[in-house]
Amino acid sequence: MDAKLAVIGLGSIGSMALWQASKLTDSVVGFEAATPAHGRSAVGGDTRLFRMIYTGNPGFYPIMERSRSLWAELEADTGQEILTPTGGLSIGTENGSYITSVLETTRVTGADFELLSHDDLAERYPQHNLHPDDVAVYDPRAGVLRTDRAVCAAIAAAKANGATVHQNTPVDSITETEDGVVVTSGDRTWTFEKVIVAAGGWAQRLMPDYLKAAVETKRLILTWFVAEDGAQFSPENFTTFSRVYDNRSMYGAPAVDGVTVKATLDGRGRPTPNPDSVPRDLTPEEIAETTETVTEFLPGLIPTIVRSDAFPELYTQDKSPLIGWMEENSRVYCAAGFNGGGFKMATGYGHIAAHEALGTQTFEGLDFVRPGRFTTTQPTPSAAAAQ
Ligand SMILES: Cc1cc2nc3c(=O)[nH]c(=O)nc-3n(C[C@H](O)[C@H](O)[C@H](O)COP(=O)(O)OP(=O)(O)OC[C@H]3O[C@@H](n4cnc5c(N)ncnc54)[C@H](O)[C@@H]3O)c2cc1C
Repeated sequence: MDAKLAVIGLGSIGSMALWQASKLTDSVVGFEAATPAHGRSAVGGDTRLFRMIYTGNPGFYPIMERSRSLWAELEADTGQEILTPTGGLSIGTENGSYITSVLETTRVTGADFELLSHDDLAERYPQHNLHPDDVAVYDPRAGVLRTDRAVCAAIAAAKANGATVHQNTPVDSITETEDGVVVTSGDRTWTFEKVIVAAGGWAQRLMPDYLKAAVETKRLILTWFVAEDGAQFSPENFTTFSRVYDNRSMYGAPAVDGVTVKATLDGRGRPTPNPDSVPRDLTPEEIAETTETVTEFLPGLIPTIVRSDAFPELYTQDKSPLIGWMEENSRVYCAAGFNGGGFKMATGYGHIAAHEALGTQTFEGLDFVRPGRFTTTQPTPSAAAAQ
């Protein structure tokens, strides 16, 4: 046995699982196909939005809360600023489906919020060119996560706790035997008690057939703009935002680098057959729609895309992730399929995966993320994991 636990893929979630596991055992090994935080993974693009106010399954809320305290713990462990508080705005039509859905989820979760009328919003955030019937839900705990810094900090902290990291080591196969789980990369093999697969847009390659059929890798784009007056879009004066309407949606973040404002079309992921060669250039249609939307929503930005990129992300059929044992009595655990929203909860997902893979359960109410929902036979934790 080479170690108790292996983590395959040291991107957004795998790095956090490695860090969390390293707090429980020094017998943990991480494998990364490239280098941690490499720019072709879903870590790429510098920043991700953190929020406590959202639409959808209220079951995510406890994971968000735990993630928030773990981001603070990662900052304390490593001395790095990772989550910059900015506040956040969900903007849409008063009584429209988006604002109604945000308020409904917020009512169920009990998250702190402030409802801003059109006039409040116009006065506090004049950067937004509003429709006459726009209102906003303000999230006082929203902020911006620095992705590369977070992943590198987690891996450094894990190594300091005794974890081993193999970078430039793509895992080709994972095979369960009587002796343990055999991991191969090229002509090298290792044996572990348990394995976590956190391979992002590549995870399909290491999944059983029933899960392969339930997921799809998509290409997501990011675009950045420069402001006419940079101070107006600084983290002190501007927040993260999501503006969602029936025909047009955009989200973004203040200029945490002091120069560029992220403002990107929402919901434009499209299937990409090969995560290794995601087309990075925007299509003429993507450029035209992004430019038109920025011109309409944020007139203080110069409507020319100064930077853009595209990254792979794994989507599931029901838009909830896959967190749990791959199959009944398996010793291989899945932490993948985050549907364009996983980074904010990367510490929480890493915590759940590390603890469950090492045999302790710290969260209840996770049925909606269990991989077994895609088969008629529900996987159960392996013997050791159930202890
Ligand atoms: C453009 C974009 C914008 C987003 N915006 C937000 C946002 O604002 N807020 C938010 O919360 N979320 C957001 N997300 C979602 C979030 O970034 C992802 O859900 C999260 O990063 C996915 O993490 P992951 O660990 O699954 O994948 P990744 O971070 O891609 O990590 C997978 C890693 O596994 C490695 N790997 C793959 N195969 C192997 C193998 N066989 N052996 C070894 N290593 C392997 C890869 O090299 C990679 O490093 C966004 C995503 C994208 C793409």
